[in-house]
Amino acid sequence: MSENCRRLETIMVQGSREKEDIKGAISTPIYQSATFKHHGLNESTGYDYSRSENPTREELENTIAKLEGGKAGFAFSTGMAAIDAVIRLFIPKDHIIVSEDLYGGTYRLFEEIYRRYGIETTYVDTTDIKKVEESIKKNTKAIFIETPSNPMMRITDISKITSLAKAFKILTIVDNTFLSPYFQRPLLLGADIVIHSGTKFLGGHNDTLAGIIVANKFIEEIKFMQVSTGAVLSPFDSWLILRGIKTLAIRLEKQQKNAIKISKWLSECKRVKKVYYPGLKAHKGYDISVKQTTGFGSMISFEVNEREIIEKSLKKFQTIYFAESLGGVESLITYPYIQTHASIPEDIRNRIGIKDTLLRLSVGIENVKDLIEDLDRSLNL
Ligand SMILES: *Cc1c(COP(=O)(O)O)cnc(C)c1O
Repeated sequence: MSENCRRLETIMVQGSREKEDIKGAISTPIYQSATFKHHGLNESTGYDYSRSENPTREELENTIAKLEGGKAGFAFSTGMAAIDAVIRLFIPKDHIIVSEDLYGGTYRLFEEIYRRYGIETTYVDTTDIKKVEESIKKNTKAIFIETPSNPMMRITDISKITSLAKAFKILTIVDNTFLSPYFQRPLLLGADIVIHSGTKFLGGHNDTLAGIIVANKFIEEIKFMQVSTGAVLSPFDSWLILRGIKTLAIRLEKQQKNAIKISKWLSECKRVKKVYYPGLKAHKGYDISVKQTTGFGSMISFEVNEREIIEKSLKKFQTIYFAESLGGVESLITYPYIQTHASIPEDIRNRIGIKDTLLRLSVGIENVKDLIEDLDRSLNL
């Protein structure tokens, strides 16, 4: 089959197929070597030192680049290391427009680290294109969006953002962690750089940390940053993410199926005030979701009626684990207000809607009846 014909699920299973293993291994070998032998001066095998390039990591980088439809992929030790490498493309006095509802760690990186180095940010509701346009200044260099956003599941219209960005000659960077390339491919909608916390859906088993960049622009610069600052993904962790990706499609189908059922159940639950899930027709960004994605994912946030329910229920969950993180086969419930989004100031949290009655659920692949029974029992005081 010609390379161009392979569909997403096939690429997930087979990988990049850019380099055939000489011994015919079906599973990419783990090249657990820090350095590589030279046969003579200027006679490198193409691999010198694993910070620069490693065959296992390279296979992951090539695979994810194909899945996202981008020119080059880069694997980092964590999602934050990947985001850090992207922010380092900018210099003091550069201005970046950032989705106001986003992963708390990204907010912390911009505000508590890069602000010190003179990188300016404005937090905007990027679902409102007019607001985004009004925030563009002379020194604006990029728009950084998360869609669906974390944790309010706001949907930003990627094509509208990329058209606007192109008109002003600025970059669009998308954190695609929540949907993965199986459901959403921002580069094909005009984005320039895609970021992932590979810890989440790509790895999919809550067993390793990883970060990914796929870029259509600034490829040399990102490679330089990766080699120079060194937060690369280890050979073994690269292999774990490659193995995770093999089942990405079937995991996401099952997780989404469970999430649709749970979101409907929650919508009818008396102790639940509001449900945020892009797959519900009543969800604000539903139409944009349908237009720009091939699925709604498996992340649900919901508000309960009273704060009291939170503390009591978090002690009661049995099938669903009360733990940070998301995207894996195990269902996890988190309390964004004091966990993932604690580093966001209270006034911003309130404006966005991250209330002290909000819970975020990452739906796994368990039997959905067990998950619903667990929710029913735990939310019931
Ligand atoms: C988890 C997460 C990150 C950070 O990734 P790590 O692998 O934990 O460093 C960034 N963005 C989003 C949307 C995330 O969920």
